[in-house]
Amino acid sequence: MAIDFTLPPDVVSVRLRVREFMEKRVAVEEERMRREGGFRKGYAALREEAKREGLWAPHMPPEFGGMGLKPLAMAFVSAECGRTMMGAYVLNCHAPDEGNMHTMLHHATPAQQDEFLRPLVDGKVRSCFAMTEPEVAGSDPTGIRTHAEQDGDHWIINGHKWFISGARGAAFAIVIACTDPDANPRQARNTAFIVPTDTPGFTIVRDIETMAGHGNHCELRFENMRVPDENIMGGRGQGHRLGQARLGPARLAHCMRWIGNAEVALEMLAKRALERQLHGGVLADKQLIQAMMAESAMELYAAKLMVLHAAYLIEKEMPFRQEVSMAKHHVANMLWKVTDRAIQVHGALGYSTDSPLERMLKHARSARLVDGADEVHLTQIAQHVIEAIRSDGTTRAATGRDLL
Ligand SMILES: Cc1cc2nc3c(=O)[nH]c(=O)nc-3n(C[C@H](O)[C@H](O)[C@H](O)COP(=O)(O)OP(=O)(O)OC[C@H]3O[C@@H](n4cnc5c(N)ncnc54)[C@H](O)[C@@H]3O)c2cc1C
Repeated sequence: MAIDFTLPPDVVSVRLRVREFMEKRVAVEEERMRREGGFRKGYAALREEAKREGLWAPHMPPEFGGMGLKPLAMAFVSAECGRTMMGAYVLNCHAPDEGNMHTMLHHATPAQQDEFLRPLVDGKVRSCFAMTEPEVAGSDPTGIRTHAEQDGDHWIINGHKWFISGARGAAFAIVIACTDPDANPRQARNTAFIVPTDTPGFTIVRDIETMAGHGNHCELRFENMRVPDENIMGGRGQGHRLGQARLGPARLAHCMRWIGNAEVALEMLAKRALERQLHGGVLADKQLIQAMMAESAMELYAAKLMVLHAAYLIEKEMPFRQEVSMAKHHVANMLWKVTDRAIQVHGALGYSTDSPLERMLKHARSARLVDGADEVHLTQIAQHVIEAIRSDGTTRAATGRDLL
């Protein structure tokens, strides 16, 4: 049997430990904090507890103070985290820090790792990733206008960014700036700089209000920020490549958490359908409602398989871009549809703020924009289909490789 879906015992064990911690500690505390407030203190205490339980920075290697889990195990851990509001933050594997840690692990110099990565993994500081700009399309980062001019062994950075998650309170930003405007290919124009947020000229203009409220997605201005040469990460002209490398695993990590969110929405849908009485029965007796359950269950199941396969490819160091794009698009849209159906089944209650579903739907909407908008992924997926058919006359390479 070439394919064995039995989970390795260590993955089962870590999944159960995280599940128990999320159910018995994080969910319980979040419920209490919703009633009584005190979020900052509450989360700080939960993070200390996670450290004591040995459930800290699961995606980072032990030599950096993490659990050393590989992508497959992380898929299960992240899905458990996604069943709570801030479970990933409690374990220190939340966006954007999780993606930044990966990037710095693979691309930062030892000195950069000591100065910036270690405190990040320890949970002493937070970070942000500053790429998107209001003036140019975020879907085409080769057009970035934030620019860095060399000045001896320093760089002077000027620019404008927005939707930079976690910027308020971050100790440093990974800033993507144009250093080589005439470079050919265009992908070689940008460079990544690690910029401490207390650098003079770094300004947070505002925390942009989104349909889900203020989520610390900030607009930033950079005015003559002076950053030393040694703060370049991954080499000059490597900003685009580094952004792409970051986005593979980071996109998948988002997907894993969204699976947890969708599970919660489907459970709410099913529970409500089983208790809501009408016409002498319950909603769950109605075939139209059953169809919603069935569609949601199938979409969720497909999502899990896609995420696991993409995680497997990353873990085996095989090409993964097509599978990560397909998983990202599918999971983001699945989350949106399942949450919307759960609202429908709850009727007016689902539309109200008495139910968490309206908040969940507003958050779910951003999944179709962040880490590549739907259309960006569809374009790439189609490109792979064209390449596959041209290369051997089949679409196998673009539809799950050698799966079937
Ligand atoms: C909640 C949230 C958090 C975010 N956090 C961060 C962050 O931490 N750091 C950061 O740098 N950025 C962040 N972003 C920005 C995000 O990465 C961008 O919004 C995204 O890359 C799209 O860029 P844009 O908004 O400029 O849209 P545009 O690039 O202007 O695209 C607009 C629309 O055009 C369509 N489109 C794009 N490309 C194509 C195509 N090839 N074919 C057909 N249609 C297309 C899509 O529908 C897309 O939504 C965040 C955004 C949100 C909403």
